Amino acid sequence: MLPTLLADFFTLVFPQTCLACSDTLARGETHICTLCRAQLPYTDYHKLAEKDNPLARRFWGKVPLHHALSYLRFLRHGRVQHLLHQLKYQGQREIGEVLGRWYGAELTQQGINQDFDLIIPVPLHRRKRAKRGFNQSDSFAEGLSSGLSVPWSATTLRRTEHTDSQTQKNRAQRWQNVATVFEVAEPEVIIGKRVLVVDDVLTTGATLEACVAVLLAAGCSQVSIATIACAEQ
Ligand SMILES: [Zn+2]
Repeated sequence: MLPTLLADFFTLVFPQTCLACSDTLARGETHICTLCRAQLPYTDYHKLAEKDNPLARRFWGKVPLHHALSYLRFLRHGRVQHLLHQLKYQGQREIGEVLGRWYGAELTQQGINQDFDLIIPVPLHRRKRAKRGFNQSDSFAEGLSSGLSVPWSATTLRRTEHTDSQTQKNRAQRWQNVATVFEVAEPEVIIGKRVLVVDDVLTTGATLEACVAVLLAAGCSQVSIATIACAEQ
């Protein structure tokens, strides 16, 4: 009785808000309210055949992917943009973990967890990481790892140079910018392994494409990708 009263008191004084819509959370809700959870724009790409998966099609002729997965559709000014902003700029790293756990559990229900040996987040340059305090892709990898029961490693793939901001560049320039910046630091860890590379958001796909190419060249037997959200073209 008392702990519940105490919890209610704290909720009254310091209300927890939904990280997607900012409404006050009800008792029993954590991070994201029930309404948002029901209404988030899920892609369900994992339920589609490869030829019908628009994300998979974007990588055709570039790099071979086993699975092309994204939990949510990125829509500007909506809940997903708000979630990603909280994750990236407000230090709400639990968002990545929670969404990773939910998505991992859903993929596991479909048996897709059987297709991965290792999860690798897209690395941030260490200076950027130091500034932000964490890598938002690590938190998604950590959540997916628990939902899929597949280990993850933040040390296998490394970013070698500091890249300029991507926002002012066109696709070709972005590709040049990222093509040389990833290297496999621990090749022995990935040789012959089926790797899932994960990132928070996919816009042009150039960053993930570069990571996939580097991982395949280093000896992975197959590579898949998963993001929290992807922008449709
Ligand atoms: Zn909400």
